[in-house]
Formats: sequence, C-alpha cells, structure tokens
Amino acid sequence: MSKSPQSKHAKKSSTTKMPAPKGSRARTAAARRASTGASSTTKVKRAPATAKAGTRAKLGTPRGSSATTARGAKSRGPQYVYSFGPRGADGNRDMKDVLGGKGANLAEMCSLGLPVPPGFTISTAVCAHYYENERRYPERLQKDVEAALARVEREVGKRFGDASDPLLVSVRSGARVSMPGMMDTVLNLGLNDATVEGLARVSGNPRFAWDAYRRFVNMYADVVLGLKAKSESHLCPFRDAFDQKKKARGVREDTDLTAQDLRDLVDEYKRVVRERTGKPFPSDPREQLWGAIGAVFRSWQNERAIAYRAMNHIPASWGTAVSVCAMVFGNLGPDSGTGVAFTRDPSTGEKRFYGEYLMNAQGEDVVAGIRTPHPISTLADNAPAAWKELNRTVQLLERHYRDMQDIEFTIERGRLWMLQCRNGKRTGFAAVKIAVDLVREKRITREEALLRVDPTSLDQLLQPVFVPEELAAARKDGRLLTRALNAGPGAASGRIAFSPTEAVARREKGENVVLVRIETSPDDILGMKAASGILTARGGMTSHAALVARQMGKVCVAGAGELEIDYAQRTLSVGSWTLSEGDWISIDGSSGEVYAGKLGTQSSDVCAVLLEGAKPGVDSIYREYHELLSWADDARTLRVRANADQPDQCRNAVAFGAEGVGLCRTEHMFFAPGKIEAVREMILAETTQERVLALKKLLPLQRADFEGIFKAMAPRPVTIRSLDPPLHEFLPHDEPSIWAIARDLNVLPERVHAKVEALREQNPMLGLRGCRLGIVYPEITIMQARAIFEAACNVARDTKKKPMLEIMIPLVGTRRELDLQADVVRNVAEEVFAEAKIRVPFLVGTMIELPRAALTAGEIAKTAEFFSFGTNDLTQTTFGISRDDGGKFLPHYIEQEIHADDPFATLDRDGVGRLMRIATEEGRASRPGLKVGICGEHGGDPRSITFCDELGMDYVSCSPFRVPLARLAAAQAALRSRRS
Ligand code: PEP
Ligand code: MG
Repeated sequence: MSKSPQSKHAKKSSTTKMPAPKGSRARTAAARRASTGASSTTKVKRAPATAKAGTRAKLGTPRGSSATTARGAKSRGPQYVYSFGPRGADGNRDMKDVLGGKGANLAEMCSLGLPVPPGFTISTAVCAHYYENERRYPERLQKDVEAALARVEREVGKRFGDASDPLLVSVRSGARVSMPGMMDTVLNLGLNDATVEGLARVSGNPRFAWDAYRRFVNMYADVVLGLKAKSESHLCPFRDAFDQKKKARGVREDTDLTAQDLRDLVDEYKRVVRERTGKPFPSDPREQLWGAIGAVFRSWQNERAIAYRAMNHIPASWGTAVSVCAMVFGNLGPDSGTGVAFTRDPSTGEKRFYGEYLMNAQGEDVVAGIRTPHPISTLADNAPAAWKELNRTVQLLERHYRDMQDIEFTIERGRLWMLQCRNGKRTGFAAVKIAVDLVREKRITREEALLRVDPTSLDQLLQPVFVPEELAAARKDGRLLTRALNAGPGAASGRIAFSPTEAVARREKGENVVLVRIETSPDDILGMKAASGILTARGGMTSHAALVARQMGKVCVAGAGELEIDYAQRTLSVGSWTLSEGDWISIDGSSGEVYAGKLGTQSSDVCAVLLEGAKPGVDSIYREYHELLSWADDARTLRVRANADQPDQCRNAVAFGAEGVGLCRTEHMFFAPGKIEAVREMILAETTQERVLALKKLLPLQRADFEGIFKAMAPRPVTIRSLDPPLHEFLPHDEPSIWAIARDLNVLPERVHAKVEALREQNPMLGLRGCRLGIVYPEITIMQARAIFEAACNVARDTKKKPMLEIMIPLVGTRRELDLQADVVRNVAEEVFAEAKIRVPFLVGTMIELPRAALTAGEIAKTAEFFSFGTNDLTQTTFGISRDDGGKFLPHYIEQEIHADDPFATLDRDGVGRLMRIATEEGRASRPGLKVGICGEHGGDPRSITFCDELGMDYVSCSPFRVPLARLAAAQAALRSRRS
C-alpha cells in the first residue's frame, strides 16, 4: 500500500488492535448504554453537507475533525462509520471513494426510498489505517461500530447475539470500483448453537435456520479461517461434505435436504474446522463480527484482488470499505428467493430486463454458480407482488443512474429487498449498444456515451466467429457436445486445461487454451486470463465466470450441466464422448454451443462489413459501432494513423478509419521470399560496388511494395522509415541455414560465417542500426529513397492522386546525422522528379527515440520537418531497460510497485513523457507548426493516447486493429480536456 496522508495523522499510539471481544453480554450491554446515551443526538438522515465533503475526501485523509458529522454531532475526528436504513443515510452515490461502490449505492437507494435492510459502512479510510498500522484499527472504531450496530438493532427490533430472536448480519466488501468476486463476504453472521434455536423458533422454520447456520459456518471457515480446497483439483471440503450428504440421502436439489440433514452438516463442518485449525468454531457473535471485518480488509490484499487490480489499473491505495447489513432471507421457504438482474442484457446490450433467480436460496447460490438459476421472466409466477415491485424499482434505478444497472435482491416471504445496485459490467458489444441506445432514448448525450465505453472493449467487436462450413461439418459429425449459456461472446478453440495452473503453463508454451472448470472461483483469475475461452459446468449468466469473462473480453460458455468433469482423471464426459486434458475443444460464447475438436475461426460481424464488404444484418452491432465511432471522430482533435507495411494492412487500416500511415517499417518488406536473398547479398558485399549491385536488385522490388501502399493510401500521408534494424537480424546464425545461404549466393560458407561474426555486437540495440546504417552505407538510403519517389511518381501519374510522403530517419541523436541523411533523400528526390517530370509533396523528418534527440529537439527541428516519437526505443533508452529482456523482471517491478504499469505498454509520463514534452515544445518553438506524432506501441494504448492529446500532438499511430480503439480514446481525451 502506498502511504496516504492518514499515516501522518494516525500515530500508532492512537491505535488499538481489535481483540476478539470476550464476554459479549457485558459488551452488548455497554454498547447498548453507549448507544442509548447517544440516541438523543443520533438521527439517521440525509445530510447533503457530508455527502459533498465525501466526494472531496481522499482515502485516508481525516475529514471533518472540527466539522459536524452527518448525524448532527460534533465529530471527534474523521467519520469512520456511515449508517443507512429506511429513514435515510449518512452517505450517497458520490461517496464511492469513502464508502466503496456498494456502500455508496446502498446509501443512495435508501435516500430514494427503496427497501434496503438497515446497516452501516466502515469507510475505506479504515482500510488504509489498517494496512499502515500493522493491521490495527483506529482507536475509536470499535465504539463507532457498536453505536451503528445498536442503531441497526433498533431499526430491526432485534438484538445481535440474542438467543431468543437474533439479529443476523452480512459483512460485505466494496471498493470504489466493483471487483466482482475478488474480495470476501460473510452472510448470516451471528449464528451459534444458541441463536440458531432462536432463529428456528421465531421463523417457525427449523430447516431454514439450520440452512442459514451451515452456510454461515462454511463461509466463515472459508473466508475468515482460510479453509479452502486443498488444491485446484480438490473440491472445497464443505462443498464436498454437502455433495456427499445429498448423495447419501439420494436427493437432487439442495432444497431437498431436511433440517436434520443440515444440522448434521453443521456438525460435520465444525469437525472439519476443529481438525484443520486445531480450534473450535468461534461462537461469540462479536468475535465473529470482528473476524469477518478483518477478513474483508485482508481480502483487499489477497492474490486474486491484487491480480485483478493489476489487470484493471486499480491503485492499491484505494482500499475497500466494509458494509455490515441486517440479513434478510431468501431461504425462508418457497415464497422467498434471491436473484441478480440487469436492466439490459449484459452480453448483447438488448433492452430487456435480464436476470436470474432461485427460490428458497441465498445470494451466493446464484452468484457462485452453485445451482443453475431460472430466468427472471418466470419470477412473476413464483412471487407476483415482488416481481411487480422489482420491475418498478429497476426502472427507477436505471432512470436515476442513467445507465444499465446490475442489481441484487432478496425476496423474504414475498417482500422485496434491494441488496445492491451498480452500473452493470458488460461486454464490449453491450457497452456500445447501450451507450448508443441511451442517446437514442435521449437519456444521455453523445459525449456521455463516448465517455462510457472503454476503448479496449472495442476489441471484442473485432473478435472472430467460427467458419460456417467447419461449424456445419462439426454439427453434421455429431461433435456438438452440449448447449449452455452464452456468457461471453466470440468463438474460441483451444486445448483443454482443467486447472488455472495448467492453463497458464500451456499458454506459456504458446498453446491456445480453453479453461474447463466445474465452476470457477475468483482464485482462477490468472488461468482465465491465460485462456482464450472458459467453459463451466455450473453457474448462470451472473456467475463469477460469466462476469469476469465478459469484463476480460473472453469467450465464455457457462452452466453446461451435462458435462461431467472429473478433476482427478482430468477428463470431461458427455454422452458417448470423453475428452482429456490437452484435447481440442471449441466453444461459441455467442450461441452457447460446445464442440469436440478444433474449429477454424473467421471475421466478426464488424470486420466482415468493414474488411470484406458484407452488408450489415438487421440486428448487426455494426450500426451502433459505426454511429459511436462517427461521434468519436467529431469529438477528437488527435488524428489517428496506422503502423502498416503491406498494401493489405493499409486497406484494413483505412477501413478501420486510419487517416494515414504513421510508420511503414521498410525492413518488414525485406523478409519476403525473393527479397531476402538480395538483402543478404547486399550485406555480404565486400565493396561499395558489390553492395550497389545487390541494391539494384532490391530497387524494383521495394518500388513495387511502395506502389501498393501508396495506391491504398493516396492522398493520405504515409510515413516511411529508412532501414532501422541491425543487419545481423537478416542473417541466420545456425549452421545448416548458413550453408544454405552460401549455396544460394554461390559463396563459401566461411564468408557467411565471417560476416555473421563481423556483425556480432554486444548491444545490437545500441549498435550499428537506425540512421547509423545510412551514414555508414549511404547507398542503402539512396536505393530506398529512389524506390519511394519512383513509386510515388508512378502512382501519381497512374491514379491522378498524389501520395503525401513523409520520409523518416530513425534513431537520430544529433542534428548532423539528420542533415546528412536528409541531404541524401532530397538529392534523390530531385533526381527522380526530374526524370519522371512530375513532383510529389514530401517532408523529411525524424523519429525521436533517444533522450539526446529529445533534449536537443530545438536544434534537430531546424532540419526535421516532422517528429514521430518512437516510444519503444525512447522508453528503452530512457530507462536503460532492454525492450527484449525487460519482460524477465518488469512483472516483479510492477508487483513491488516500482512502476505502476509496464512502461513499454503505457507511457511513463514522468520520465519518457517529460522528454516528449520538452521535445514537442522546443521543436515547435524552433519550427512553428511542426507536425508531431507517435508511432511506438503506446500509440494504441488509451492512457498513453490521453497523454499525447495533452501534449497537443497531431496524431497517434497504432496497428490497424487498434485504430477503432484509438479513435475512441482520442475522443475521450479531447472531451475530458474540454471538461477540465
Ligand atoms: C519505436 O522505437 O517506438 C519504433 C516505433 O520503432 P521500432 O519499434 O521499430 O524500433
Ligand atoms: Mg525504434
């Protein structure tokens, strides 16, 4: 955790480690006295002043030390605990940084008058304090929690720990942004051997009481005591015991187990706890409460939360809040239930109330995929009044938040309770469709729509689908194994891995993997990341697997209940089929179909329209995609180009909306058969004359390449870079290939050997490459310039469209280097124009890839007519980290928070960015209007694009398939800067 200002204020001495409180009765009485004493001033009500302060509050910053708290009392320091309930709330939706998303939205729903069980939220500041003070809480926290708990007791009319009629609570995590399933939750807390009897009596339903108790012991043991499955291939011990019980009793449904069965299970669970921890299961409700609060805070730093944060760029310093809420029960009988729903389809974005529920169940049954739930549309039959209320509520919520909502609800004996609402996670398809639809419905503006779609999620719209002929053949051959829930769109074919570890190992070997699990748990996150697709036997559309897969843009089929997955045998069986680990399997996350074997894939809907000229179907996402991106084009100021070196890449780039080529790496053309031989001949040449002869062979080949590119791009600008890589990259290093080259070029192998040896460098990235090649061998630049200008003149003559050329010299560190190469280029241009009797417009510029070039940009710009930041090399040379070897240690650096991100993926603003700022400012001071762009990989990274916009660059350039992403990211950057 990084230090927050809190640490300065919260000295260790002001801190108490929460003991497991003993003598709960005495403490309850004390707490009751305290709360009674406070009750004259303790009124829960909506307090706008606090809400505003909350939006400003930073994590860990003590707020309101002299301010009035929401409860109207003079605060004795920062407010750590915020109450909510039917009579209002301390917080509101704008306080996510203090209350977490869950706490803020619970408070907001209370203020909207929606039925929310009362509770309180412990703020994220406590999480920061906890980590900065050796896992101790602020001194006052215990008192504040007791007071808030007492308020809940009064609201509900039950007491926590009361054996005759106990108040039970849920303890739930909630960060500023939702991290589904990554942190921990405990339900039914407050049960023990005495309170369970009270609950049985009061509810008149012993089966329910024992069901709640066995769930509580299971969850508490897992989350707080850390009793997990022994390995990825084992079932959780409690789940195992539960399944055994069902088998022994010969029942199918969980709900078929009797009160006695559940009582037996509680005994069995407690036995497991004693056996594995050496201690009895804790029975004191207050000890349970503090245990659960601590576990939720600890879960902020569990492996899966850390991995999730890294993937989603969530700072560790944010911390989680903890919401403690009075329990309402969905497992009270057939008129009770629980569900999760979305106001629109989270996979496709279609406008329909979409969700799942289970009667006589608790929340985790739906979310963790333990039972496969029913579609929400059938709820009207089971709980008509609650169904009506639910519809009214979700419509209100969507109108209020002006976005698709993801809600959790419980129906307790026919009455609806709202447990959560948040802006729902969605696929890239749904994100685009919902954003455009909300504009069409006049709920949001175009600008808001643009800001709501994560640019990287556009990738999903470009993902392939199965080749129709192969799909038809697979169906005909009877390879359709099953059809289940279409939880994450796209098509994936890969080798089966039954565990996340196996998935990661296979991916590292370069294999395509489909991760096959009975159900996924959040611990599987790294395996899910490594896999191209995820297939689960259990779980619904809102299960963890489905949710996380959608967010990651992974293909996912969930709830394939016909599959029998045997972790021990590493097999999957269905009908007459048995597949083993490593066998091919294909899943279609759009139709939910699963096929044995490998299936080829082809372009997505959007790509088919853009790249193959197909007509968009009536319900094609292409329409919304096109509309959104046309708004993006209106909003952005940055231009977007593509890095492309072949005519077909250029055509794709234009179809995706590229406005030019920002980098044509000419050496990529050299590797094609027919060219590489001439290149090697040029490298092996002993004299300039020999070299010129070899280059003559290359000239027409290069010219033809450029003609193709210019035809595809004219009159758009094309930036062509002169030869850049060290020459050894064009020669083989193994013996048989050396002999083959010697034979082809009719020279002795010793000569090839000698050349390979002569070209060997300790640090080839810092050696004879870039403009240095053209300076040592000007004839190479001459040949390339001639090929470029001849091609341009030919295209201008043939097509009547003049290509706009930008000749770019790489790895320049001094103005003199650029002067020498620019002279060569300009001289050749004049020669060619004179021969062709036609002129084409061109500029000569340079890449800024070395710190020296950035620092002397003012001088270099006297010659350079444009700059393009080669941020791959500029990052390499600024950090002194090899772009080829950095991968070995950069993950450690990111883990240890030395770097927030991989600097080769996201621009380092402070170092590399500073050099870029200097270069841009000084370059433009010396040459007003200097064109400045970027062509390193960062040109396709949304956060780096934001930085480029801030610098006032003219364009970003990225790979063709990233062009849509860059158009949207550029629009977002422009809108944000306009707003600020
Ligand atoms: C760069 O260095 O950023 C660049 C675009 O050049 P290359 O990756 O070809 O070295
Ligand atoms: Mg470079």
